[in-house]
Amino acid sequence: MLHLLSLTTEELSTWLVSQGEAPFRVQQLESWLYQRRAESFDCMTDLPTSLRARLRDTCRIWSGSVVEHRTAADGTHKLLIEWPDGHRIECVLIPDGPRRTACISTQVGCAMGCVFCASGLDGVARNLTSGEILEQLLRLDRLLPAGVRLSNIVVMGMGEPLANLDALLPALERARSKRGLGISPRKITISTVGLPRAIDRLTELGIGYHLAVSLHAPTDELRTRLVPVNRAIGLDAILAAAERYFNATHRRLTFEYVLLGGVNDQPEHARQLARLLSGKAALLNVIPYNPVPGLEYQTPTPRALRTFVELLRQAGVNVQVRVRKGDQIDAACGQLRRRLAAHA
Ligand code: SAH
Repeated sequence: MLHLLSLTTEELSTWLVSQGEAPFRVQQLESWLYQRRAESFDCMTDLPTSLRARLRDTCRIWSGSVVEHRTAADGTHKLLIEWPDGHRIECVLIPDGPRRTACISTQVGCAMGCVFCASGLDGVARNLTSGEILEQLLRLDRLLPAGVRLSNIVVMGMGEPLANLDALLPALERARSKRGLGISPRKITISTVGLPRAIDRLTELGIGYHLAVSLHAPTDELRTRLVPVNRAIGLDAILAAAERYFNATHRRLTFEYVLLGGVNDQPEHARQLARLLSGKAALLNVIPYNPVPGLEYQTPTPRALRTFVELLRQAGVNVQVRVRKGDQIDAACGQLRRRLAAHA
């Protein structure tokens, strides 16, 4: 069965023509998939019955099935999707004032090995396809009332997006397209552990997605302990690649810093970080550690958090503390999948 969401407009058009259909059918079909929120081929009433029957026999809109749908009091929705091979991933819808943000996954698991993150505890099983990435967006979009669409995307779910750019980019192409979801690239944030060569590929692409780089430590010694892939990369190479991205796109960079109590939240870390970021037009997003069952890290004390932020602000760094949403439904970082797997 063909997963229609994996096909580009050209591929879809070629398929239709190979079935003896007129090329303009591609617009109708895409409008049902991306605009009119079709759940099945039967509702595509402006397509000939014969084409609908062929689509039913040979293609599918959805590849996965939603095995769990949780809703939190703050309006956050979390979906756990299972693919035909049994692998599961998570995606989240976060309504926030006028914004409706989708947080999506790019891999089953993750190979980066960040020691405080639930997604990578069992390594990576496989990359998601572009259709599977797009399916998350469309399923979250369909949770919104008629006429209300997703406004933002953060690629901050399971996996390392820059390790699966070949699948991510076509999915984001659909997200940006007027005939897709129509979301501007500046409202699409790609969060990365910092893979310089892939950052350079984004720089060359020149689309201007918002890039967020996960730093988590101001020195290579500490960063390699928290983010093992750092050993072969190093902060200098990451910051240089981020700088090239900034120079080419003029998008403000964001650095993320998960604050782990007693580990990377000391005044000396704040001072080192301030030196590292001085003179950069960057936003520092401080994220208090969200406890992962089975891991021994601590959320920073309110006092440590305050001091950390204060020292950076005094040094002129633009800091924001990220508010947590969806905690009660395990909407953070690969946690739902783990909890359900543990109970399976
Ligand atoms: N691989 C990408 C996207 C992953 S998740 C990256 O590394 O950026 C997005 C953010 O959530 C990352 O900054 C990641 O470090 C952070 N994160 C992971 N586990 C966390 C936890 N337990 N508490 C708080 N933030 C966490």
